[in-house]
Amino acid sequence: MHELAVTKSILKLSLDQAAEHHGTKVLKIHLLIGELRNLEQDWVQRYFDYISKGTPAEGAVIKVTKSPVSFLCKDCNGQFTANLKEDKKLLCPHCGGFDYDMTSGRELVVEKLEIL
Ligand SMILES: [Zn+2]
Repeated sequence: MHELAVTKSILKLSLDQAAEHHGTKVLKIHLLIGELRNLEQDWVQRYFDYISKGTPAEGAVIKVTKSPVSFLCKDCNGQFTANLKEDKKLLCPHCGGFDYDMTSGRELVVEKLEIL
């Protein structure tokens, strides 16, 4: 269960942060999740509600922002994003090259925490 493991790490991070800032309650968690991670807000929230029971993060609202899959072309240094489901053959739109690195799409970042 991939979602559960991920949600556990989100919970741990939130609780650590809350403790560090002497917070007593976590109200809202803003997450930035790469498009390539198949994580849906509903599921993360559901798991989170379940595992956060009895912790200061119980009842916290999860807000997910998806970040697109993006690339950096090694030939022309151009950046571009792509929908991997549609673009089967991915070429740099700037120079037509196909030598590029993925720069985002797999991240999972806690962007902001609202703590009481
Ligand atoms: Zn290019």
